[in-house]
Amino acid sequence: MTSTGDVRNLVIIGSGPAGLTAAIYTARANLAPLVIEGEPSSTSDQPGGQLMLTTDVENYPGFPEGVMGPELMENFRNQAARFGAEFLTERVSRVDLSQRPFGIWVGDPAAPEPTFRAQSIIVSTGAQSLLLGVEREQELIGHGVSTCATCDGFFFRGQHIAVVGGGDSAVEEATFLTKFADTVTLVHRRDQLRASKIMQDRARANPKIRFQWNSTVESLVGDEKLAGVILRDTVTGEVSTLDVTGLFVAIGHQPNTGLFKGQLELEGNGYLITHDGTRSSVQGVFACGDVQDQTYRQAITAAGSGCMAAIDAERWLESTEHGTTDLPDW
Ligand code: NAP
Repeated sequence: MTSTGDVRNLVIIGSGPAGLTAAIYTARANLAPLVIEGEPSSTSDQPGGQLMLTTDVENYPGFPEGVMGPELMENFRNQAARFGAEFLTERVSRVDLSQRPFGIWVGDPAAPEPTFRAQSIIVSTGAQSLLLGVEREQELIGHGVSTCATCDGFFFRGQHIAVVGGGDSAVEEATFLTKFADTVTLVHRRDQLRASKIMQDRARANPKIRFQWNSTVESLVGDEKLAGVILRDTVTGEVSTLDVTGLFVAIGHQPNTGLFKGQLELEGNGYLITHDGTRSSVQGVFACGDVQDQTYRQAITAAGSGCMAAIDAERWLESTEHGTTDLPDW
């Protein structure tokens, strides 16, 4: 199967583990996928996704010695390119999913004609961890600052660390991190947690967890590696230093679904809804990875769902005469 005229079989939007795995599978299925991979200047949809902000990845199967996040993503990309996937290092500025072939714009979203037309689309635009917005936070990710306890907890064995946030994620991460760290200070901006009662009780009973109430992170200490955080008491205004070598920011995630609002069915919190594998609410549009996953958010689960989306798209294109007819049971 190849592209017909200027209408492509498949465009993949996003190039984290989900999008690139979808690219490997669909390229090997001769679907000639185009991957619109995002722009390096952007933190929300940069090529390679969230792993580009990580250093060592030790839990991705197949790398017994671990692998650097950017290197892993380069391998994914090279593997997809080897089978003929095409890449465009741009951001998608608009999509029109109201009819097939779908319209996809890069550059000026007001341009009358779309830049590309495609019979099917795989959405793999990912999600981003919300960050505190303090100076040098981005720079220190992978050097003491982390947004993923499952990924990075292991590196903080025997250290004193902090978690920011008061929801289920923060409390769950704080509890998990006590497996490694000597102490975990939970820094929360109020004096009450938002987390579920059972998780709160578990954390309160854990002797390694301390609570720093009514506190916000004012700034980060340390040049190349985190050496502490400066806190401000939200009630008294008092400023203090917390000596920690790790700071886990767990204040929520945001899926990158702005492009699809009003066109695809989204959860109230913005996550894309999928059904029957990776089908979205619009026939011919599939979604995989963190953009539709609020639960697991791992590189390996994203890659797995990218494979599912590729197979779903391939079968759908086959069964609908390359996307020109409708599937009654979508
Ligand atoms: P969340 O429930 O939205 O909690 C975010 C927390 O971060 C809140 O405590 C909030 O403080 C704090 N926060 C937000 N912005 C902040 C900022 N700029 N500076 C400092 N603190 C800030 O997010 P979540 O914990 O990631 O959970 C998301 C959803 O997933 C929830 O529905 C949760 O129940 C679910 N979840 C479930 C589990 C589980 O059941 N095992 C585990 C993880 C997540 P305030 O409280 O003051 O607003």
